[in-house]
Amino acid sequence: MNVGLESYRALLRRNDPEVFAAIAGEEQRQQSGIELIPSENYTYPEVLAALGSVLTNKYSEGYPGRRYYGGQRYTDAIEEIACARARALFRCDHANVQPLSGSPMNQAVYFAFLRPGDTVLAMDLSHGGHLTHGAPVSHMGRVFRFVRYRTVPDEAGRIDFDEVRRLARETRPKIVLCGYTSYPRDYDYAGFKAIADEVGALTMADISHVGGLVAAGVLQNPFDFGFDVVTTTTHKTLRGPRAGMILCRRAHAATIDQSVFPGLQGGPHMNTIAAVAVTLKKAQEPAFAAYARQVLRNARVLADTLLARGGVLVTGGTDNHMLVLDTVATAGIDGRAAEQRLDAVGITTNKQIIPDDPNPPLRPSGVRLGTPAATTRGMREPEMRRLGGWIADTVCDGGDAAVLERRRCDVAALCERFPVPGL
Ligand SMILES: *Cc1c(COP(=O)(O)O)cnc(C)c1O
Repeated sequence: MNVGLESYRALLRRNDPEVFAAIAGEEQRQQSGIELIPSENYTYPEVLAALGSVLTNKYSEGYPGRRYYGGQRYTDAIEEIACARARALFRCDHANVQPLSGSPMNQAVYFAFLRPGDTVLAMDLSHGGHLTHGAPVSHMGRVFRFVRYRTVPDEAGRIDFDEVRRLARETRPKIVLCGYTSYPRDYDYAGFKAIADEVGALTMADISHVGGLVAAGVLQNPFDFGFDVVTTTTHKTLRGPRAGMILCRRAHAATIDQSVFPGLQGGPHMNTIAAVAVTLKKAQEPAFAAYARQVLRNARVLADTLLARGGVLVTGGTDNHMLVLDTVATAGIDGRAAEQRLDAVGITTNKQIIPDDPNPPLRPSGVRLGTPAATTRGMREPEMRRLGGWIADTVCDGGDAAVLERRRCDVAALCERFPVPGL
């Protein structure tokens, strides 16, 4: 590159101090607080370099070797590298790395296989399903018919497979979708596959949250159970840029590619695709598998610490990188109040609806916590124990301003010992 990343920054500082100051402020915020939102992470400096490269100048509609614009020597190479790495990492036949983010990624799959009004069997949103799994407020929820399965109350998050089977037989879905945004357990992919086969439905797993953990081999890979299509974002546990990927069996490759382009999107963001390629190389290294194992260990220790302090966790614990704390049952405060209190001491979480939540979405009954970002900074079990103690104290006692201020300083001091990569 002719101009290094540092020089880009110097130019921005000089020529647009307003925007530069906001970015600098965000850097400071990311460094000084603890990020426990399970969908967030800190990406690699190499990814930032690829994102901020001249690839953003280039139009590359189409696919490698079949583009609608000239000048694709380097962009073709980059997309092919990204796809090859994705196939190797997730052990699948085909990868499409063009989806601009998680939402268009799932839309592209729906439009690939469904006609308006067709049925998708998906997880209930309050039990952990995602907005893009047909929430009534989403456009997808109006175009297609989403039928919902749930978890069994008080059974450690077990999916009610009797209900899944009954609904599948009654509603004849074209797609059986499993995937979650707020579910602290691993999935029984074999259970879903068996039911989908009974009714002739396609199997789709949206592993956006756990993509990195699946890539690292510490959680199950849906392809090992014969799934048709797997979608994942690249910016959560995978630690890459904001984007989406669709992985599938060979038989679906052309259908998926056509649905992404020209079906749904125009020009792919080649700077992002280069950053995805960089991310996938990192994910193939042994250090990434070690990272993924530590993410799980940290989540377990954080869960155990909260349980020991009387915390009530949805499903009673965790198998993955996240936990959902029922703040109403734990401390009699709603998730919004808990989120605000934790924010005040520099611990960033997000309020979260819990299964069959009686409270409205903006004042739900819980908060969602996750360890991917803190683990990226190098935090381990001892830090998780301290963090769990602070969370319990802050949620349960509330505390007066002086106590909270002291805790905020403790959090900041801990963060200083664990710098954010790239800052
Ligand atoms: C985050 C997420 C998405 C959507 O990703 P965006 O990049 O925010 O559009 C889709 N599905 C699941 C399960 C997710 O967790």
